[in-house]
Amino acid sequence: MSKKLTPRSQDYSKWYNQLVVEADLAENSAVRGSMVIKPYGYAIWEKMQSDLDRRFKETGHENAYFPLFVPKHLFEAEEKNAEGFAKECAVVTHYRLKNDPDNQGKLIVDPEAKLEEELIVRPTSEAIIWSTYKNWIQSYRDLPILVNQWANVVRWEMRTRLFLRTAEFLWQEGHTAHATKAEAIEEAEKMNEVYAEFAREVLAIPVIKGRKSPSERFAGAVETYCIEALMQDGKALQAGTSHFLGQNFAKAFDVKYTSKEGKQEYVWATSWGVSTRLMGALIMSHSDDQGLVLPPKLAPYQVVIVPIYRKQEQLDQITEVAEELMKEFRDKGIRVKFDHRDTHKPGWKFAQYELQGVPTRIAIGPKDLEKGTVELARRDNLSKEFIQRNEVVDRVVALMDEIQDSLYNKALDFQESHTTKVDTFEEFKEVLEKKGGFIAAHWDGTEETEQKIKELTKATIRCIPDKQEKEAGKCVLTNSKSEGRVLFAKAY
Ligand code: AMP
Repeated sequence: MSKKLTPRSQDYSKWYNQLVVEADLAENSAVRGSMVIKPYGYAIWEKMQSDLDRRFKETGHENAYFPLFVPKHLFEAEEKNAEGFAKECAVVTHYRLKNDPDNQGKLIVDPEAKLEEELIVRPTSEAIIWSTYKNWIQSYRDLPILVNQWANVVRWEMRTRLFLRTAEFLWQEGHTAHATKAEAIEEAEKMNEVYAEFAREVLAIPVIKGRKSPSERFAGAVETYCIEALMQDGKALQAGTSHFLGQNFAKAFDVKYTSKEGKQEYVWATSWGVSTRLMGALIMSHSDDQGLVLPPKLAPYQVVIVPIYRKQEQLDQITEVAEELMKEFRDKGIRVKFDHRDTHKPGWKFAQYELQGVPTRIAIGPKDLEKGTVELARRDNLSKEFIQRNEVVDRVVALMDEIQDSLYNKALDFQESHTTKVDTFEEFKEVLEKKGGFIAAHWDGTEETEQKIKELTKATIRCIPDKQEKEAGKCVLTNSKSEGRVLFAKAY
């Protein structure tokens, strides 16, 4: 049964968790911190995947697949990366169980089946991939390598939340190898832009593009580019990252190429990824107290038709109309569902599709049959209109763009009205507490100050925006010199 959600204003976090479960997107599992993604949630993820996959291929990348397990000596090779992930690694030590005769034959780990070398369940795949690239790269002719993999990874997170932070998550990770530094930087920036466009055009989420401060950089990266989004509760969410890895992995795995001039050079690298966290971003950007609000581009069903009837004869007549409409919708590329189940009442179905964020709903009753009309409802603003049956298909087609744009604009208004310039630390604290959102403030560029601000306020530097105005100023905390504002926020 569909259920009322806790209002966002009352408890945002409870609202989020309830929505994810009630809208049938995902649920907690028997494995700590790992979720089951349910068919409706997975259908949305698949839409994200296919759109991203197309964008990766259009920018010259190919998909490949590398092993789940990383032998420990390879994992350790790039020290900074290993150190950064060491605290959250799952490690395989044995390869067999056996019956324990002392304990009613229960299964125990067979001590004789200890692996000679432990295997790390990949938290990210640079190590296994760069140990492979060593064999793929000899000369400048072998470069660039532009590879992406769709996979699962495991990071033993202590505080987990459905989609936003799970111990096992699904993602894609691009891993590219280049002859020059300039080309690798260009690639890392380009993929960050691909993510930003995807977020705007498909997720209808405006994002801030920029670079991370050194302390928030990916372990082993020289520079981390990112897209940051603002959620409705004023907290920021890192929605995607793209790393310029310099020659760190090439040096760790001794990956060199012979240049045109016949010289041996280390290869330059990037990696970039987005994960099922994007589902969380999507939910928290647009949804309301009635449930999920989906941008039409990601909706598994863009329009649902619900019949309202008492007698079988009425249902037969409505079905005839619905089938004609479905054909017309499909011809126009609209994903449509006709819900003629007699196990649920129309009111229940309305509430359920509202909860699941179906962008538009058509109801057809006996009166509509007489008048040649249908009732058309919009999920985003909950408005309803009666419309001639022969106009409804074109209207829904037009609404797909209208709703997509309207969701983006609403989220953009929110982001803009929740980005505040502050010049004193008092103001910083006040804005953070009363309004939240991004705070554009001067920072002296030191890790110490960043850390101190985090301790005092829980806000971190989300990014140094690409569109940073060069503006001399004084650090909000230390009064030392600063060359431009960076964005602070409390973050997920
Ligand atoms: P990283 O490899 O740390 O740069 O992360 C790549 C992408 O995965 C980023 O978009 C992160 O926001 C996302 N991500 C990192 N950790 C998790 C997690 N525990 N659950 C879901 N997504 C994550």
